[in-house]
Amino acid sequence: MLIHWFRRDLRLRDNTALRAAAAQSGGAVIPVFIFDDAIIRGRFASPARTQFLLDSLAALDAELRELGLRLVLRRGEPLPTLMALLRESGARGVTWNRDYTPYAIQRDSAIKRELRAAGYLAESYKDAVIFEMNEVVTAAGQPYTVYTPYAKRWRARLESEPVQVQGMPALAAIPLPASDQLPALNELLPDAPARVPRFAAGETAALAALEHFIQHTIANYATARDLMAAAGTSRLSPYLRFGVLSPRQCVVAARAAPPGPGSESWIGELIWRDFYVQVLYHFPHALRGSFKPVYDQIAWPNDPDLFAAWKEGQTGYPIVDAAMRQLQQEGWMHNRARMIVASFLTKDLLIDWRWGERHFMHLLIDGDPAANNGGWQWAAGTGTDAQPYFRIFNPVSQGQKFDPDGAYVRRYVPELARVPARFIHEPHKLPAADQIRAGVRIGSDYPAPIVDHATQRMRALELYRAATRHD
Ligand code: FAD
Repeated sequence: MLIHWFRRDLRLRDNTALRAAAAQSGGAVIPVFIFDDAIIRGRFASPARTQFLLDSLAALDAELRELGLRLVLRRGEPLPTLMALLRESGARGVTWNRDYTPYAIQRDSAIKRELRAAGYLAESYKDAVIFEMNEVVTAAGQPYTVYTPYAKRWRARLESEPVQVQGMPALAAIPLPASDQLPALNELLPDAPARVPRFAAGETAALAALEHFIQHTIANYATARDLMAAAGTSRLSPYLRFGVLSPRQCVVAARAAPPGPGSESWIGELIWRDFYVQVLYHFPHALRGSFKPVYDQIAWPNDPDLFAAWKEGQTGYPIVDAAMRQLQQEGWMHNRARMIVASFLTKDLLIDWRWGERHFMHLLIDGDPAANNGGWQWAAGTGTDAQPYFRIFNPVSQGQKFDPDGAYVRRYVPELARVPARFIHEPHKLPAADQIRAGVRIGSDYPAPIVDHATQRMRALELYRAATRHD
Protein backbone atom coordinates (compact mmCIF):
# COMPACT_ATOMS: atom_id res chain seq x y z
CA MET A 1 0.00 0.00 0.00
CA LEU A 2 1.23 3.52 -0.84
CA ILE A 3 0.08 7.05 -0.10
CA HIS A 4 -0.34 9.41 -3.06
CA TRP A 5 0.06 12.98 -1.83
CA PHE A 6 -2.05 15.26 -4.07
CA ARG A 7 -0.81 18.84 -4.33
CA ARG A 8 -1.02 20.66 -7.67
CA ASP A 9 -2.32 17.59 -9.54
CA LEU A 10 -5.99 17.42 -8.54
CA ARG A 11 -7.08 14.81 -11.09
CA LEU A 12 -7.20 11.05 -11.56
CA ARG A 13 -6.49 10.83 -15.30
CA ASP A 14 -2.98 11.20 -16.71
CA ASN A 15 -1.50 11.67 -13.25
CA THR A 16 2.10 10.42 -13.35
CA ALA A 17 2.78 9.82 -9.65
CA LEU A 18 -0.70 8.43 -8.99
CA ARG A 19 -0.23 5.90 -11.80
CA ALA A 20 3.20 4.96 -10.45
CA ALA A 21 1.76 4.47 -6.97
CA ALA A 22 -1.01 2.26 -8.36
CA ALA A 23 1.44 0.24 -10.44
CA GLN A 24 3.72 -0.36 -7.46
CA SER A 25 0.97 -1.29 -5.02
CA GLY A 26 -1.46 -3.33 -7.10
CA GLY A 27 -3.87 -0.36 -6.99
CA ALA A 28 -3.75 -0.03 -3.19
CA VAL A 29 -3.37 3.75 -2.99
CA ILE A 30 -4.43 6.08 -0.17
CA PRO A 31 -5.35 9.45 -1.75
CA VAL A 32 -4.26 12.27 0.57
CA PHE A 33 -4.42 16.06 0.51
CA ILE A 34 -2.83 18.18 3.25
CA PHE A 35 -3.79 21.82 3.89
CA ASP A 36 -0.41 23.46 4.37
CA ASP A 37 -0.91 26.76 6.23
CA ALA A 38 2.45 28.00 4.96
CA ILE A 39 0.81 28.23 1.52
CA ILE A 40 -2.84 28.90 2.35
CA ARG A 41 -1.99 31.80 4.69
CA GLY A 42 1.37 32.71 3.19
CA ARG A 43 2.60 35.79 1.37
CA PHE A 44 0.34 35.07 -1.61
CA ALA A 45 -2.83 34.11 0.31
CA SER A 46 -5.97 34.32 -1.84
CA PRO A 47 -9.61 33.73 -0.92
CA ALA A 48 -10.70 33.11 -4.55
CA ARG A 49 -7.90 30.66 -5.26
CA THR A 50 -8.47 28.85 -1.96
CA GLN A 51 -12.18 28.56 -2.81
CA PHE A 52 -11.27 27.04 -6.17
CA LEU A 53 -8.94 24.63 -4.35
CA LEU A 54 -11.81 23.62 -2.04
CA ASP A 55 -14.18 23.15 -4.98
CA SER A 56 -11.57 21.10 -6.84
CA LEU A 57 -10.99 18.89 -3.79
CA ALA A 58 -14.74 18.32 -3.44
CA ALA A 59 -14.88 17.26 -7.10
CA LEU A 60 -11.87 14.95 -6.70
CA ASP A 61 -13.45 13.40 -3.61
CA ALA A 62 -16.68 12.79 -5.55
CA GLU A 63 -14.73 11.05 -8.35
CA LEU A 64 -12.94 8.87 -5.80
CA ARG A 65 -16.22 7.95 -4.11
CA GLU A 66 -17.45 6.56 -7.41
CA LEU A 67 -14.50 4.16 -7.18
CA GLY A 68 -15.36 3.18 -3.59
CA LEU A 69 -12.64 5.45 -2.20
CA ARG A 70 -12.51 8.98 -0.80
CA LEU A 71 -10.00 11.75 -0.32
CA VAL A 72 -8.19 11.70 3.05
CA LEU A 73 -7.89 15.33 4.15
CA ARG A 74 -5.60 16.57 6.89
CA ARG A 75 -4.46 19.99 8.03
CA GLY A 76 -0.97 20.65 9.34
CA GLU A 77 2.68 20.59 8.45
CA PRO A 78 3.21 18.08 5.66
CA LEU A 79 6.08 16.01 7.12
CA PRO A 80 4.57 15.14 10.53
CA THR A 81 1.17 14.69 8.87
CA LEU A 82 2.56 12.20 6.34
CA MET A 83 4.48 10.38 9.09
CA ALA A 84 1.30 10.05 11.13
CA LEU A 85 -0.64 8.76 8.10
CA LEU A 86 2.09 6.21 7.33
CA ARG A 87 1.95 4.93 10.91
CA GLU A 88 -1.85 4.83 11.00
CA SER A 89 -2.25 3.06 7.68
CA GLY A 90 0.77 0.79 7.50
CA ALA A 91 1.53 2.14 4.00
CA ARG A 92 5.12 1.67 2.91
CA GLY A 93 5.72 5.03 1.34
CA VAL A 94 4.57 8.19 -0.42
CA THR A 95 4.49 9.36 -4.04
CA TRP A 96 3.96 12.91 -5.34
CA ASN A 97 4.38 15.04 -8.44
CA ARG A 98 7.10 17.65 -8.39
CA ASP A 99 6.43 21.36 -7.74
CA TYR A 100 9.23 23.72 -8.74
CA THR A 101 8.71 26.83 -6.59
CA PRO A 102 11.55 27.61 -4.19
CA TYR A 103 9.36 26.90 -1.13
CA ALA A 104 8.13 23.56 -2.50
CA ILE A 105 11.61 22.40 -3.50
CA GLN A 106 12.94 23.05 -0.03
CA ARG A 107 9.94 21.42 1.67
CA ASP A 108 9.88 18.37 -0.60
CA SER A 109 13.59 17.62 -0.45
CA ALA A 110 13.47 17.69 3.36
CA ILE A 111 10.43 15.39 3.31
CA LYS A 112 12.06 12.97 0.87
CA ARG A 113 15.19 12.84 3.02
CA GLU A 114 13.28 12.28 6.28
CA LEU A 115 10.92 9.66 4.88
CA ARG A 116 13.77 7.69 3.34
CA ALA A 117 15.79 7.96 6.56
CA ALA A 118 12.81 6.45 8.37
CA GLY A 119 12.80 3.54 5.93
CA TYR A 120 9.86 4.59 3.75
CA LEU A 121 9.66 4.84 -0.01
CA ALA A 122 9.49 8.49 -1.15
CA GLU A 123 9.33 9.13 -4.90
CA SER A 124 8.58 12.30 -6.84
CA TYR A 125 7.72 12.53 -10.54
CA LYS A 126 7.65 15.01 -13.41
CA ASP A 127 4.03 15.81 -14.18
CA ALA A 128 3.21 19.54 -13.98
CA VAL A 129 5.27 20.56 -17.03
CA ILE A 130 6.24 19.03 -20.36
CA PHE A 131 9.97 19.56 -19.78
CA GLU A 132 11.49 20.24 -16.40
CA MET A 133 14.69 21.38 -14.72
CA ASN A 134 17.62 20.69 -17.10
CA GLU A 135 15.67 19.02 -19.91
CA VAL A 136 15.70 22.12 -22.12
CA VAL A 137 19.02 23.94 -21.75
CA THR A 138 21.57 25.47 -24.12
CA ALA A 139 24.21 23.39 -25.88
CA ALA A 140 26.57 24.47 -23.09
CA GLY A 141 24.15 23.09 -20.49
CA GLN A 142 23.05 26.53 -19.26
CA PRO A 143 19.43 27.51 -18.57
CA TYR A 144 17.83 29.74 -21.18
CA THR A 145 17.08 33.31 -20.12
CA VAL A 146 15.24 34.32 -23.30
CA TYR A 147 12.01 32.74 -24.52
CA THR A 148 12.56 32.39 -28.30
CA PRO A 149 15.61 30.07 -28.29
CA TYR A 150 14.09 28.16 -25.35
CA ALA A 151 10.89 27.61 -27.33
CA LYS A 152 12.81 26.42 -30.38
CA ARG A 153 14.70 23.86 -28.33
CA TRP A 154 11.50 22.84 -26.50
CA ARG A 155 9.71 22.20 -29.82
CA ALA A 156 12.66 20.21 -31.16
CA ARG A 157 12.67 18.04 -28.06
CA LEU A 158 8.91 17.46 -28.33
CA GLU A 159 9.41 16.23 -31.89
CA SER A 160 11.99 13.67 -30.81
CA GLU A 161 10.18 12.78 -27.59
CA PRO A 162 6.41 13.11 -28.20
CA VAL A 163 4.29 13.16 -25.05
CA GLN A 164 1.44 10.76 -24.39
CA VAL A 165 -1.66 10.92 -22.27
CA GLN A 166 -2.27 8.11 -19.78
CA GLY A 167 -5.71 7.08 -18.61
CA MET A 168 -7.07 6.63 -15.12
CA PRO A 169 -5.16 4.01 -13.08
CA ALA A 170 -7.00 0.99 -11.62
CA LEU A 171 -7.48 1.82 -7.94
CA ALA A 172 -8.61 -0.76 -5.36
CA ALA A 173 -11.37 0.10 -2.88
CA ILE A 174 -9.20 -0.32 0.24
CA PRO A 175 -9.99 0.71 3.84
CA LEU A 176 -8.75 4.26 4.43
CA PRO A 177 -7.58 6.25 7.46
CA ALA A 178 -9.97 8.84 8.94
CA SER A 179 -10.31 12.16 7.14
CA ASP A 180 -11.03 15.69 8.35
CA GLN A 181 -14.13 17.33 6.92
CA LEU A 182 -13.60 19.57 3.92
CA PRO A 183 -13.28 22.96 5.66
CA ALA A 184 -15.29 26.05 4.75
CA LEU A 185 -13.31 28.91 3.24
CA ASN A 186 -13.47 31.04 6.39
CA GLU A 187 -12.07 28.21 8.51
CA LEU A 188 -8.91 28.43 6.43
CA LEU A 189 -8.97 32.20 5.87
CA PRO A 190 -10.99 33.88 8.64
CA ASP A 191 -10.80 37.28 6.90
CA ALA A 192 -12.12 36.03 3.54
CA PRO A 193 -15.07 38.02 2.18
CA ALA A 194 -18.48 36.33 2.25
CA ARG A 195 -18.60 36.15 -1.55
CA VAL A 196 -15.65 35.33 -3.77
CA PRO A 197 -15.57 34.65 -7.54
CA ARG A 198 -16.13 30.96 -8.38
CA PHE A 199 -14.93 28.93 -11.36
CA ALA A 200 -16.43 25.58 -12.45
CA ALA A 201 -14.28 22.96 -10.72
CA GLY A 202 -13.45 19.32 -11.40
CA GLU A 203 -11.85 17.09 -13.99
CA THR A 204 -15.06 16.65 -15.99
CA ALA A 205 -15.56 20.42 -16.34
CA ALA A 206 -11.88 20.86 -17.25
CA LEU A 207 -11.93 18.18 -19.94
CA ALA A 208 -15.17 19.62 -21.37
CA ALA A 209 -13.59 23.10 -21.50
CA LEU A 210 -10.53 21.72 -23.29
CA GLU A 211 -12.75 19.88 -25.77
CA HIS A 212 -14.82 23.01 -26.40
CA PHE A 213 -11.69 25.08 -27.01
CA ILE A 214 -10.24 22.55 -29.46
CA GLN A 215 -13.55 22.21 -31.33
CA HIS A 216 -14.56 25.86 -31.54
CA THR A 217 -11.78 28.29 -30.68
CA ILE A 218 -8.27 27.05 -31.38
CA ALA A 219 -8.49 27.50 -35.19
CA ASN A 220 -8.77 31.30 -34.78
CA TYR A 221 -6.63 31.56 -31.65
CA ALA A 222 -3.68 33.29 -33.34
CA THR A 223 -5.79 36.33 -34.20
CA ALA A 224 -8.63 36.27 -31.64
CA ARG A 225 -6.38 35.77 -28.60
CA ASP A 226 -5.64 39.48 -28.32
CA LEU A 227 -9.21 40.74 -28.60
CA MET A 228 -10.26 41.34 -25.04
CA ALA A 229 -14.04 41.19 -25.57
CA ALA A 230 -13.90 37.89 -27.49
CA ALA A 231 -13.88 34.42 -25.93
CA GLY A 232 -10.76 33.83 -28.00
CA THR A 233 -8.59 31.99 -25.46
CA SER A 234 -9.03 28.69 -23.63
CA ARG A 235 -9.63 29.95 -20.07
CA LEU A 236 -7.99 26.75 -18.87
CA SER A 237 -5.49 28.55 -16.63
CA PRO A 238 -7.13 27.70 -13.26
CA TYR A 239 -7.20 24.01 -14.25
CA LEU A 240 -3.56 24.04 -15.32
CA ARG A 241 -2.64 25.94 -12.15
CA PHE A 242 -4.05 23.19 -9.90
CA GLY A 243 -3.36 20.25 -12.22
CA VAL A 244 -7.04 19.55 -12.80
CA LEU A 245 -5.78 19.21 -16.38
CA SER A 246 -2.29 18.11 -17.34
CA PRO A 247 -0.17 20.03 -19.85
CA ARG A 248 0.17 16.74 -21.77
CA GLN A 249 -3.60 16.55 -22.22
CA CYS A 250 -3.44 20.09 -23.66
CA VAL A 251 -0.50 19.47 -26.00
CA VAL A 252 -1.89 16.17 -27.28
CA ALA A 253 -5.32 17.73 -27.90
CA ALA A 254 -3.79 20.72 -29.71
CA ARG A 255 -1.67 18.47 -31.91
CA ALA A 256 -4.72 16.37 -32.78
CA ALA A 257 -6.59 19.50 -33.95
CA PRO A 258 -6.36 20.37 -37.66
CA PRO A 259 -2.87 21.88 -38.09
CA GLY A 260 -2.69 25.65 -38.45
CA PRO A 261 -1.44 28.85 -36.88
CA GLY A 262 -3.99 28.56 -34.05
CA SER A 263 -2.67 25.34 -32.54
CA GLU A 264 0.97 26.35 -33.10
CA SER A 265 0.38 29.67 -31.38
CA TRP A 266 -1.45 28.02 -28.47
CA ILE A 267 1.33 25.50 -27.93
CA GLY A 268 3.61 28.55 -27.82
CA GLU A 269 1.68 29.72 -24.73
CA LEU A 270 2.09 26.34 -23.05
CA ILE A 271 5.81 26.77 -23.73
CA TRP A 272 5.71 30.16 -21.94
CA ARG A 273 4.24 28.27 -18.99
CA ASP A 274 7.15 25.80 -18.92
CA PHE A 275 9.60 28.64 -19.58
CA TYR A 276 8.62 30.61 -16.48
CA VAL A 277 8.66 27.47 -14.34
CA GLN A 278 12.24 26.79 -15.41
CA VAL A 279 13.23 30.46 -14.97
CA LEU A 280 12.11 30.38 -11.34
CA TYR A 281 13.69 26.97 -10.84
CA HIS A 282 17.09 28.16 -12.05
CA PHE A 283 16.85 31.75 -10.78
CA PRO A 284 14.90 31.64 -7.51
CA HIS A 285 16.07 35.16 -6.61
CA ALA A 286 13.45 36.43 -9.12
CA LEU A 287 10.65 35.62 -6.67
CA ARG A 288 11.82 38.42 -4.34
CA GLY A 289 13.67 40.81 -6.63
CA SER A 290 14.31 41.74 -10.23
CA PHE A 291 15.52 38.97 -12.51
CA LYS A 292 18.10 41.51 -13.69
CA PRO A 293 19.35 42.78 -10.31
CA VAL A 294 20.30 46.23 -11.63
CA TYR A 295 16.59 47.10 -11.65
CA ASP A 296 16.41 46.62 -7.89
CA GLN A 297 17.94 50.12 -7.84
CA ILE A 298 14.82 51.76 -9.28
CA ALA A 299 13.58 54.42 -6.84
CA TRP A 300 9.84 53.76 -7.30
CA PRO A 301 7.71 56.70 -6.06
CA ASN A 302 4.96 54.21 -4.98
CA ASP A 303 2.10 56.69 -4.47
CA PRO A 304 -0.54 54.83 -2.37
CA ASP A 305 -3.45 56.88 -3.79
CA LEU A 306 -2.51 55.98 -7.35
CA PHE A 307 -2.20 52.34 -6.31
CA ALA A 308 -5.67 52.43 -4.72
CA ALA A 309 -7.16 53.94 -7.91
CA TRP A 310 -5.53 51.20 -10.02
CA LYS A 311 -6.85 48.43 -7.75
CA GLU A 312 -10.37 49.86 -7.81
CA GLY A 313 -10.47 50.43 -11.57
CA GLN A 314 -10.75 54.21 -11.17
CA THR A 315 -7.79 55.52 -13.18
CA GLY A 316 -9.73 57.31 -15.92
CA TYR A 317 -8.15 55.01 -18.53
CA PRO A 318 -11.12 52.82 -19.52
CA ILE A 319 -9.16 49.77 -20.72
CA VAL A 320 -7.20 49.67 -17.46
CA ASP A 321 -10.32 50.14 -15.37
CA ALA A 322 -12.27 47.46 -17.27
CA ALA A 323 -9.44 44.98 -16.74
CA MET A 324 -9.05 45.70 -13.03
CA ARG A 325 -12.79 45.34 -12.51
CA GLN A 326 -12.79 42.05 -14.45
CA LEU A 327 -10.13 40.81 -12.03
CA GLN A 328 -12.22 41.84 -9.01
CA GLN A 329 -15.44 40.34 -10.34
CA GLU A 330 -14.17 37.12 -11.93
CA GLY A 331 -10.79 36.34 -10.33
CA TRP A 332 -9.46 36.16 -13.91
CA MET A 333 -8.20 38.66 -16.47
CA HIS A 334 -7.51 38.47 -20.20
CA ASN A 335 -3.81 38.12 -21.06
CA ARG A 336 -3.65 41.30 -23.16
CA ALA A 337 -5.34 43.15 -20.31
CA ARG A 338 -2.79 41.76 -17.83
CA MET A 339 0.01 43.17 -19.97
CA ILE A 340 -1.70 46.55 -20.26
CA VAL A 341 -2.44 47.01 -16.55
CA ALA A 342 1.02 45.77 -15.54
CA SER A 343 2.69 48.23 -17.93
CA PHE A 344 0.36 50.97 -16.64
CA LEU A 345 1.13 50.31 -12.97
CA THR A 346 4.87 50.34 -13.46
CA LYS A 347 5.43 52.81 -16.30
CA ASP A 348 2.50 55.24 -15.86
CA LEU A 349 1.90 55.12 -12.11
CA LEU A 350 5.58 54.42 -11.28
CA ILE A 351 4.73 51.74 -8.73
CA ASP A 352 6.99 48.78 -7.93
CA TRP A 353 5.96 45.72 -9.96
CA ARG A 354 5.98 43.65 -6.76
CA TRP A 355 2.94 45.58 -5.50
CA GLY A 356 1.09 44.55 -8.63
CA GLU A 357 2.40 40.98 -8.48
CA ARG A 358 1.05 40.66 -4.96
CA HIS A 359 -2.34 42.16 -5.79
CA PHE A 360 -2.70 39.75 -8.71
CA MET A 361 -1.75 36.80 -6.49
CA HIS A 362 -4.38 37.92 -3.99
CA LEU A 363 -7.19 37.93 -6.57
CA LEU A 364 -6.31 35.56 -9.43
CA ILE A 365 -7.82 32.06 -9.35
CA ASP A 366 -5.00 30.98 -11.67
CA GLY A 367 -2.41 32.95 -9.63
CA ASP A 368 0.84 31.07 -10.02
CA PRO A 369 4.19 32.19 -8.57
CA ALA A 370 6.16 31.40 -11.75
CA ALA A 371 3.78 32.68 -14.46
CA ASN A 372 2.73 35.73 -12.47
CA ASN A 373 6.25 36.73 -11.55
CA GLY A 374 7.37 36.15 -15.14
CA GLY A 375 4.48 38.22 -16.52
CA TRP A 376 5.09 41.10 -14.13
CA GLN A 377 8.82 41.20 -14.73
CA TRP A 378 8.22 41.01 -18.50
CA ALA A 379 5.87 44.00 -18.33
CA ALA A 380 8.14 45.94 -15.96
CA GLY A 381 11.14 45.26 -18.19
CA THR A 382 13.10 43.82 -15.25
CA GLY A 383 12.88 40.20 -16.34
CA THR A 384 13.78 37.77 -19.08
CA ASP A 385 12.30 39.81 -21.92
CA ALA A 386 14.67 40.42 -24.81
CA GLN A 387 13.04 43.86 -25.34
CA PRO A 388 14.55 46.79 -23.43
CA TYR A 389 12.64 48.58 -20.68
CA PHE A 390 11.64 51.49 -22.93
CA ARG A 391 8.82 49.55 -24.56
CA ILE A 392 5.90 51.28 -22.84
CA PHE A 393 2.29 50.48 -23.68
CA ASN A 394 0.03 53.41 -24.50
CA PRO A 395 -3.24 52.50 -22.74
CA VAL A 396 -5.37 54.47 -25.23
CA SER A 397 -3.94 52.95 -28.40
CA GLN A 398 -3.89 49.47 -26.83
CA GLY A 399 -7.60 49.88 -26.17
CA GLN A 400 -8.28 51.15 -29.68
CA LYS A 401 -6.39 48.24 -31.21
CA PHE A 402 -7.56 45.35 -29.05
CA ASP A 403 -11.03 46.54 -28.04
CA PRO A 404 -11.90 48.57 -31.14
CA ASP A 405 -15.62 49.09 -30.51
CA GLY A 406 -15.19 49.23 -26.74
CA ALA A 407 -17.26 46.10 -25.99
CA TYR A 408 -14.85 45.01 -23.24
CA VAL A 409 -14.89 48.46 -21.64
CA ARG A 410 -18.70 48.65 -21.78
CA ARG A 411 -19.02 45.20 -20.13
CA TYR A 412 -16.98 46.10 -17.05
CA VAL A 413 -17.34 49.90 -16.85
CA PRO A 414 -21.10 50.38 -17.18
CA GLU A 415 -20.78 54.15 -16.56
CA LEU A 416 -19.35 54.34 -20.09
CA ALA A 417 -21.86 52.00 -21.76
CA ARG A 418 -23.38 54.75 -23.93
CA VAL A 419 -20.20 56.61 -24.86
CA PRO A 420 -19.72 56.58 -28.68
CA ALA A 421 -17.03 54.18 -29.95
CA ARG A 422 -14.85 57.07 -31.14
CA PHE A 423 -14.44 58.31 -27.55
CA ILE A 424 -14.71 55.04 -25.60
CA HIS A 425 -10.97 54.92 -24.84
CA GLU A 426 -10.69 58.66 -24.20
CA PRO A 427 -14.03 59.63 -22.64
CA HIS A 428 -12.54 62.79 -21.08
CA LYS A 429 -12.36 64.20 -24.63
CA LEU A 430 -16.11 63.82 -25.08
CA PRO A 431 -17.66 67.35 -25.34
CA ALA A 432 -19.83 68.33 -22.36
CA ALA A 433 -23.12 68.16 -24.32
CA ASP A 434 -22.27 64.66 -25.55
CA GLN A 435 -21.44 63.60 -22.01
CA ILE A 436 -25.00 64.50 -21.00
CA ARG A 437 -26.36 62.53 -23.95
CA ALA A 438 -24.18 59.52 -22.99
CA GLY A 439 -25.36 59.76 -19.36
CA VAL A 440 -21.91 60.22 -17.86
CA ARG A 441 -20.15 63.26 -16.43
CA ILE A 442 -16.39 62.86 -16.57
CA GLY A 443 -14.90 63.94 -13.28
CA SER A 444 -17.91 62.89 -11.20
CA ASP A 445 -19.50 59.68 -12.61
CA TYR A 446 -16.20 58.47 -14.02
CA PRO A 447 -12.74 59.91 -13.31
CA ALA A 448 -10.68 62.04 -15.67
CA PRO A 449 -7.24 60.43 -16.26
CA ILE A 450 -5.36 60.38 -12.92
CA VAL A 451 -2.02 60.85 -14.69
CA ASP A 452 -0.91 62.13 -18.09
CA HIS A 453 0.55 59.26 -20.11
CA ALA A 454 3.09 61.32 -22.07
CA THR A 455 4.48 62.98 -18.90
CA GLN A 456 4.65 59.72 -16.96
CA ARG A 457 6.33 57.94 -19.82
CA MET A 458 9.21 60.42 -19.66
CA ARG A 459 9.41 60.08 -15.88
CA ALA A 460 9.50 56.28 -16.18
CA LEU A 461 12.33 56.41 -18.71
CA GLU A 462 14.30 58.68 -16.38
CA LEU A 463 13.73 56.34 -13.39
CA TYR A 464 14.97 53.32 -15.32
CA ARG A 465 17.89 55.25 -16.80
CA ALA A 466 18.95 56.46 -13.35
CA ALA A 467 18.88 52.87 -12.04
CA THR A 468 21.14 51.59 -14.80
CA ARG A 469 23.52 54.59 -14.75
CA HIS A 470 25.60 53.18 -11.87
CA ASP A 471 25.72 49.66 -13.30
P1 FAD B 1 -4.53 30.69 -23.15
O1 FAD B 1 -4.17 31.81 -24.02
O2 FAD B 1 -5.59 29.77 -23.62
O3 FAD B 1 -3.18 29.85 -22.90
C1 FAD B 1 -3.18 28.49 -22.50
C2 FAD B 1 -2.41 28.28 -21.23
O4 FAD B 1 -1.04 28.61 -21.42
C3 FAD B 1 -2.87 29.15 -20.08
O5 FAD B 1 -4.00 28.61 -19.45
C4 FAD B 1 -1.64 29.18 -19.20
O6 FAD B 1 -1.53 28.02 -18.41
C5 FAD B 1 -0.51 29.16 -20.22
N1 FAD B 1 -0.06 30.53 -20.52
C6 FAD B 1 -0.57 31.37 -21.44
N2 FAD B 1 0.14 32.51 -21.48
C7 FAD B 1 1.12 32.38 -20.56
C8 FAD B 1 2.18 33.21 -20.13
N3 FAD B 1 2.41 34.43 -20.68
N4 FAD B 1 2.98 32.78 -19.14
C9 FAD B 1 2.80 31.55 -18.59
N5 FAD B 1 1.81 30.73 -18.96
C10 FAD B 1 0.99 31.13 -19.94
N6 FAD B 1 -0.83 32.94 -16.03
C11 FAD B 1 -1.13 32.10 -15.03
O7 FAD B 1 -1.46 30.93 -15.28
N7 FAD B 1 -1.05 32.51 -13.72
C12 FAD B 1 -0.70 33.78 -13.39
O8 FAD B 1 -0.63 34.10 -12.20
C13 FAD B 1 -0.41 34.69 -14.43
N8 FAD B 1 -0.09 35.98 -14.15
C14 FAD B 1 0.21 36.85 -15.19
C15 FAD B 1 0.58 38.17 -14.89
C16 FAD B 1 0.90 39.06 -15.90
C17 FAD B 1 1.31 40.49 -15.55
C18 FAD B 1 0.85 38.63 -17.24
C19 FAD B 1 1.19 39.58 -18.36
C20 FAD B 1 0.49 37.33 -17.56
C21 FAD B 1 0.18 36.42 -16.53
N9 FAD B 1 -0.21 35.08 -16.81
C22 FAD B 1 -0.48 34.22 -15.78
C23 FAD B 1 -0.18 34.57 -18.19
C24 FAD B 1 -1.51 34.66 -18.96
O9 FAD B 1 -2.04 35.94 -18.87
C25 FAD B 1 -2.56 33.64 -18.49
O10 FAD B 1 -1.99 32.35 -18.42
C26 FAD B 1 -3.73 33.59 -19.47
O11 FAD B 1 -4.33 34.85 -19.56
C27 FAD B 1 -4.74 32.57 -19.01
O12 FAD B 1 -5.83 32.55 -19.88
P2 FAD B 1 -6.12 31.30 -20.80
O13 FAD B 1 -6.16 30.06 -19.98
O14 FAD B 1 -7.33 31.63 -21.60
O15 FAD B 1 -4.83 31.28 -21.71
